[in-house]
Amino acid sequence: MQKTRSKQDSKTIYAPTNICYTGCDNMNEAILNIGGLTDFSTVDFPGKLASVLFLCGCPFRCPWCYNGDLALSKNCFELSVGVVFEKIMSWRDMIDAVAVTGGEPVMQADALIDLFKKLRAEGLSLKIDSDCFYPESLEKIIPFLDYVAVDVKTSPGRPLEYAKVTGFKGDAVDLVKKVRQSLEVLRKSGKPIEVRTTIVSDMNDSAQIIKEIAKEVGFADSYVLQQFEPREGLLDKSFESKEVVERKKMLELGKAAKEAGLKKVIVRTKENGSEVV
Ligand code: SF4
Repeated sequence: MQKTRSKQDSKTIYAPTNICYTGCDNMNEAILNIGGLTDFSTVDFPGKLASVLFLCGCPFRCPWCYNGDLALSKNCFELSVGVVFEKIMSWRDMIDAVAVTGGEPVMQADALIDLFKKLRAEGLSLKIDSDCFYPESLEKIIPFLDYVAVDVKTSPGRPLEYAKVTGFKGDAVDLVKKVRQSLEVLRKSGKPIEVRTTIVSDMNDSAQIIKEIAKEVGFADSYVLQQFEPREGLLDKSFESKEVVERKKMLELGKAAKEAGLKKVIVRTKENGSEVV
């Protein structure tokens, strides 16, 4: 997912310098592989103040990934569900929700479900970001969620292109099959669903591709086209100087999605922030 661990409005990154590691915890508890935990954010859960949990590991290697450490599981640490729960609850008076992102959080579905059961019992709303690669795990976790945001990186009708934009080295046909199975899980869930595509020049910046994606995600409550922003530290260094798709073209792509029948289309650019098309 394209999230950064340096949220403007988050004051705390919870690092493993002053807490117990796995060996100190209750050995019966599930373990989460974590990159960070912030006290609160105003931008990670629509309409709510949310603590944000960053989980490590990802099946993809998108060349433009901002979160290489999370994707590659670098600088990560293991904590029991109980320790994570207690830390989040120490911020309970500031938050009404928890957002979980990555990496691909759904890789850790069993431990997350244990955590979500505890958080729901405390009245917190729950959101997850996903990359649509683990449909069975997504199906298990979705009953616990109040909001789901997923990345669809390009048209699932183009297996080889999907593998290219995600840096996926396995079977491209199986990859898009899993993406489509995940979309079906989301469609059936009845939960509020946000679908996002990061638009990168020469990768997925064509109206035809956006129309193809739109046809597959017609059930989504919102579809967000977000402008790729080159910056230092991307997984593929050559993308740090890649051309940006300008706002005018981003809006044209947004219109293509709208004309393809999507309910709500939002274009996010550095120039103008979020604009409803
Ligand atoms: S590699 Fe891709 S899917 Fe994985 S965290 Fe980075 S941007 Fe998200």
